[in-house]
Amino acid sequence: KTSAESEGKETLTMATNATFPPYEYYDDDNNIAGIDVEIANAIAEKLGMKLEIQDIDFDSIVTSVQSGKADIGLAGMTVDPDRAKNVNFTDSYATGVQVIIVKNDSDITGPDSLEGKKIGVQQGTTGDIYCSDDYGDENVVKYTSGPNAVEALKTGKVDCVVIDNEPAKEYVKANEGLKILDTEYVQEEYAAIVAKDNDELFEKVNTAIKELKEDGTIQKILDKYIKS
Ligand code: GLN
Repeated sequence: KTSAESEGKETLTMATNATFPPYEYYDDDNNIAGIDVEIANAIAEKLGMKLEIQDIDFDSIVTSVQSGKADIGLAGMTVDPDRAKNVNFTDSYATGVQVIIVKNDSDITGPDSLEGKKIGVQQGTTGDIYCSDDYGDENVVKYTSGPNAVEALKTGKVDCVVIDNEPAKEYVKANEGLKILDTEYVQEEYAAIVAKDNDELFEKVNTAIKELKEDGTIQKILDKYIKS
């Protein structure tokens, strides 16, 4: 029996990729923490369920939810029409921006100067999808995590990293000699995902998110982690 069962609560399993601060990351006690974890806990509480987190590769999250291995996915995941063919997106609960990280001395000034450059991305993310479309798959180097892409930038394997703005800020804070360019690349909306054949859970999760938006809970969680 899992601990949730012994408490008489059903488990709500969430798939995520915990390399994406401040949305999901390992805290100093080696627990997965962050905005998505707090939102998912608030959803689980509303549903009378107990949250369990599965930390998997970002590009496996949609399949995991689609196949029922996980009940929901929260991963700073952008609402995207191709993903929506396989899973249902709830209402959006946050916004993100794809930004460009470069070394301080880089000659890259924005999306217009990325032609022919080596671009590091996290595999399967919208940064990967947009850059492969706009600058050619052959110029895009795919890493399993944002930190791995940033490491490749530091060692000169790529000329820049395209990734979401909030994790970008955290990566730049943690690594000397890097900066985020002012010019934004793409704006996006984050939402949770649920399997298409799980309408009942989808309705419950979507209603919970709506309520948590309306009563200010989600804004409070965002403000706790994101300082403007
Ligand atoms: N927002 C991006 C996407 O959905 C990146 C998410 C992530 O790396 N966790 O593709």
